[in-house]
Amino acid sequence: MGKVCAIFGGSRGIGKAVAELLAQKGYHLAVIARNLEVAQTTARSLGAGHLALSCDVSREQEVQRAFEEMQRNLGPINYLVNAAGINRDSLLLRTKTEDMISQIHTNLLGTMLTCKAAVKSMIHHQGGAIVNIGSVIGLKGNSGQSVYSATKAGIVGFSRSLAKEVARKQIRVNVLAPGFVRTEMTAHLEEDELKKAVPLGRFGDPHEVAQAVLFLLESPYVTGSTLIVDGGLQLLI
Ligand code: NDP
Repeated sequence: MGKVCAIFGGSRGIGKAVAELLAQKGYHLAVIARNLEVAQTTARSLGAGHLALSCDVSREQEVQRAFEEMQRNLGPINYLVNAAGINRDSLLLRTKTEDMISQIHTNLLGTMLTCKAAVKSMIHHQGGAIVNIGSVIGLKGNSGQSVYSATKAGIVGFSRSLAKEVARKQIRVNVLAPGFVRTEMTAHLEEDELKKAVPLGRFGDPHEVAQAVLFLLESPYVTGSTLIVDGGLQLLI
């Protein structure tokens, strides 16, 4: 069976870098995001045979439809990368309830819905591997990011539990927890100031995260793990 991978949040940033690396390694990919045009541009840049889909991960029907379309066009999905995520950073007392809900729905519910749909397919097709993108902030916490941190901590608990649930079906579930990575999500940050807090002295490049995602997807004896890719940030915060 070929390697077929669904990458939610694959149109930009970390997800796009993962798509580029997996395409080089011979995977057939579905690049999925809400903005179809951007997803199509990314999918086209990967070469022939890749699919672009529009889907909001927080909407169950859209996720189900995306999986149906992927299976029709690419065959059974045996790899899943969840890189769709948003942040609405602010101190808790200033955080609007709607911003709490949107982060929970995209980051946490979205991960649950895409994993549920993927596991359904993987169970019938001899296993698979899932990588959910968490964050070092979900492990360590950060002032001004309590809700975001909670969604990312939730991804760890969810992924560890799911790893136990599906291991006998030869499905592996791991989390990759990045630190500061140069993408649109971090474009507004003061890199010169913040990089001083990173032992390696710089922000990460999305392609450096992608290498670690590939490692988790292809390591047959690794499941239930959280791999931190943060230039050592977690050592100091
Ligand atoms: P970007 O903002 O660059 O990209 C986010 C991607 O997710 C886009 O493809 C976006 O496309 C998609 N997306 C957002 N919301 C939804 C949704 N509701 N449904 C489907 N797709 C969606 O972010 P990064 O690449 O930086 O982040 C990727 C992941 O890594 C996120 O989970 C983030 O929390 C995590 N992370 C990032 C860090 C960093 O420093 N950059 C650090 C730690 C973790 P569209 O808007 O078209 O839907």
